[in-house]
Amino acid sequence: MLDENIKNQLLTIINPERYLDQPEALACYAYDAFVEESLPDAVIFPKTTNEVSGILKIASQFKVPVTARGAGTSVCGAPIPVKHGIIVCFSKMDTILDVNTRDRYIIVQPGVVNADIQKALAPFGFFYPPDPGSMNTATIGGNIAQNAGGPRCLKYGVTVDYVLGLEVVLASGKIIRFGSKNVKDVTGYKLTSLFCGSEGTLGIVTEAILKVRPLPETTKTLMVMFDDLDNTARAVTDIIGSGILPAAMELMDQMTLTAIEDAANLGLDKTAQGSLLIELDGVEEACEKEMKQIIEKVKENGATHIQEANSESQRQNIWTARRAAYGIFAKLAPDIMSEDVTVPVSKVPAMIRKIVAIAHKYRLKVGVLAHAGDGNMHPMIPTNKADRDEWHRVKKAFDEIFEAAAQLDGTLSGEHGIGLAKSKYLPLVMNQDTIDFMKIIKKAVDPDNILNPGKFA
Ligand SMILES: Cc1cc2nc3c(=O)[nH]c(=O)nc-3n(C[C@H](O)[C@H](O)[C@H](O)COP(=O)(O)OP(=O)(O)OC[C@H]3O[C@@H](n4cnc5c(N)ncnc54)[C@H](O)[C@@H]3O)c2cc1C
Repeated sequence: MLDENIKNQLLTIINPERYLDQPEALACYAYDAFVEESLPDAVIFPKTTNEVSGILKIASQFKVPVTARGAGTSVCGAPIPVKHGIIVCFSKMDTILDVNTRDRYIIVQPGVVNADIQKALAPFGFFYPPDPGSMNTATIGGNIAQNAGGPRCLKYGVTVDYVLGLEVVLASGKIIRFGSKNVKDVTGYKLTSLFCGSEGTLGIVTEAILKVRPLPETTKTLMVMFDDLDNTARAVTDIIGSGILPAAMELMDQMTLTAIEDAANLGLDKTAQGSLLIELDGVEEACEKEMKQIIEKVKENGATHIQEANSESQRQNIWTARRAAYGIFAKLAPDIMSEDVTVPVSKVPAMIRKIVAIAHKYRLKVGVLAHAGDGNMHPMIPTNKADRDEWHRVKKAFDEIFEAAAQLDGTLSGEHGIGLAKSKYLPLVMNQDTIDFMKIIKKAVDPDNILNPGKFA
């Protein structure tokens, strides 16, 4: 519970209906899709930027921690209020303020759900490329704070590539605006990039100008099965190495395929050891030509079954199942640990071999799901935290998976971010001076460390 005086001051700017501090309500904001929990003291639902500014002025005066929250779908513990304090939840700032396809931007409040942006743009023949698997729930504020990616980011790039401008409230309550409605803008430091991936530790996003793109003329989707996981991974390297850049290239191993098939009944071959879901988009003739080249490459790597989606509904079914994979997996055991180590694409086969060997060493089941075309892997280990011996082995396995990624010139996270899950691994991929540099930035912007404290900076 917040001190009564602080609560009363907050209630001078926030309607009491938008202030929660009952224990049962607070419990709903103590967790995300990671495995830790910590209770906030209060949850506030602002409706305007000025309200956010007012909350932060009070929080900074009394040095109360403030953690922004979108939909709570983070898988790394980023929105968990480890130092308690106030959760600022953006579900009531969810308005699309402007759609301007002529100038190729959309302006949104932070609580707008990613999929609602797609729905707003589709009638104009436009789309917003970043498409996290959680797009039907996750908010744009969370996407920006995590620099979210998704399957088609292979071709189109991630969130930071689409943020033209931001309105941000600083820890002091000051409101700053940077970037603009222009696709080209080289005015001062690229602050949009600094805030993308900052996980709510530098400021709170209250408005975003996002770049949008025209929808491609055509889309072709292919599902390919292999009887060997190594061959599956080598097909990825071969396709990318040949100069073809699909919109998406998703790899699933047998355990993932089986879990999806058992849940969604799509007729997937459960005996296949690996599969690739490949999507091309663009103009018809180019897609046809590249599809032929891809089919040659997967055959050279021993594909056992190749099927092109023959209708939009079949394509949608495949993607719905793929997007549901994490949720399906999460039902296999009380807890699930999923990470997103990323390696250069030529090292995908080696990284997958390492993941499988490490899981075997620690007697754990692992499902491998990957945005393989950009080297971004999601090893998923279903587990039970209450089984202390198994939980210990899971943690050891992930220590080694991160070490293996670093040894292969990889990195800790391709899209999920650092949060609570990965801060201890930062020294594997950054030297101490670099980590200190991030801390200097944090200290300059948030001297009292009230914004999402206890995370990586
Ligand atoms: C099934 C599933 C599939 C997923 N697939 C993908 C995927 O394909 N790609 C991917 O990148 N991620 C994926 N994720 C992870 C997650 O959905 C993303 O990280 C997403 O961007 C989080 O958005 P959110 O609204 O849920 O944010 P939250 O989880 O609520 O918060 C995430 C972080 O953003 C901060 N934050 C939230 N709003 C603001 C704001 N307005 N200003 C400043 N900081 C803010 C929070 O403090 C926190 O640090 C997946 C998660 C699940 C559960």
